[in-house]
Amino acid sequence: MLGTLVGGRIGIPRSALAAAKSGLTIAIRYSDQRRQFGPEGGSEVPILNYRMHQRRLIPPLAKTYAVHFALQYLTNRFLNRTEAEMQEIEALAAGMKSYSTWSTRDILQECREACGGKGYLSENRIDALKNDTEIYTTFEGDNTVLMQLVAKNRLSEFRKAFGEMGSLGIINYVYENAKTALTEKNPIATRKTDEEHLLDGEFHLQAFIHREKTILASAARRIKKLVDGGLEPYDAFNVVQHQMIDVAQAYLERVVLEQFQLAIQSIEDTKTKGILTKLNQLYALAQLEKNRAWYLEDGYMEAVKTKAIRKLVNQLCWDIRPDAVALVNAFDIPESCLGAPIAVLG
Ligand SMILES: Cc1cc2nc3c(=O)[nH]c(=O)nc-3n(C[C@H](O)[C@H](O)[C@H](O)COP(=O)(O)OP(=O)(O)OC[C@H]3O[C@@H](n4cnc5c(N)ncnc54)[C@H](O)[C@@H]3O)c2cc1C
Repeated sequence: MLGTLVGGRIGIPRSALAAAKSGLTIAIRYSDQRRQFGPEGGSEVPILNYRMHQRRLIPPLAKTYAVHFALQYLTNRFLNRTEAEMQEIEALAAGMKSYSTWSTRDILQECREACGGKGYLSENRIDALKNDTEIYTTFEGDNTVLMQLVAKNRLSEFRKAFGEMGSLGIINYVYENAKTALTEKNPIATRKTDEEHLLDGEFHLQAFIHREKTILASAARRIKKLVDGGLEPYDAFNVVQHQMIDVAQAYLERVVLEQFQLAIQSIEDTKTKGILTKLNQLYALAQLEKNRAWYLEDGYMEAVKTKAIRKLVNQLCWDIRPDAVALVNAFDIPESCLGAPIAVLG
């Protein structure tokens, strides 16, 4: 019975994604034309030239591209599903529904504010997009509840893997983790700040996987300890509930990054590949920046590295800015559907 919900949990995030694309198209086109302030005696500059404005709109643009490819992946998995994969697809759909609708909620608010008073005018449509999509976080399953479903699925996959692997598998897992510690958590790696390394897709993916695995293993260990200590499983899950949301979040971020990277690999046009690679790097580094407290606590990175990541996020926003309008135009939303006077191309 629950399986029938999966189709809806793919439709809703796709609809949320479309709303985020519309909001970003309106806000980025407007920000490219709207001029405010400027150097003493000079002319006013487009607001998208301001670093803070870039920071507010360009990482969300990168995230929207990332979610686009992840939802394509989810849709294809669903269309070509086999019975054996259904549980995993169900959890992925529940997770992507939460990830995409939360993302749209935040992005549309930022778009509204980024257009100032014009963003508040109904004729510019951001209010309608917000009105239509805000409830997406609740219906078709409340996001926070769905994230727990995702986490439980990850934990049972983890348990299954250990069950099937037997003691040799566990030894391998421990060995793999020790290897990670050696190659990725030594003082050279945790302090490595050269651009080539920080922009490397392999570094991004390994950092995301490390976070996903560590949080999952730690949640599993905590639940086991609580249950071994006599707590009912229901109560044990409640004690670690906040960590369960992190388990789901880390899994989704890894899937989204991985699918974005894979999609880029199949692109042949060099210019398109180049700009999508920059967007992918920005998505990855913006997530690492958001999760920096975790990486610092874990010892995976030192402050010098998280600071270098922050600097690079700024730089990538700056580098992508000249292509920002082309990147929203590439969403190819018909003017009749966009319908916002401030988004009409000059
Ligand atoms: C506009 C609209 C249209 C809808 N259409 C349909 C429809 O067509 N068909 C249909 O069947 N349903 C429909 N629904 C129902 C919808 O699916 C539910 O509202 C949704 O699943 C949330 O359930 P609830 O309202 O009972 O909230 P609750 O379950 O009461 O949740 C309230 C809050 O408590 C939190 N919470 C709940 N349980 C937990 C927990 N275990 N741990 C931590 N936090 C928790 C939630 O995160 C949430 O923030 C619709 C709802 C709306 C608003």
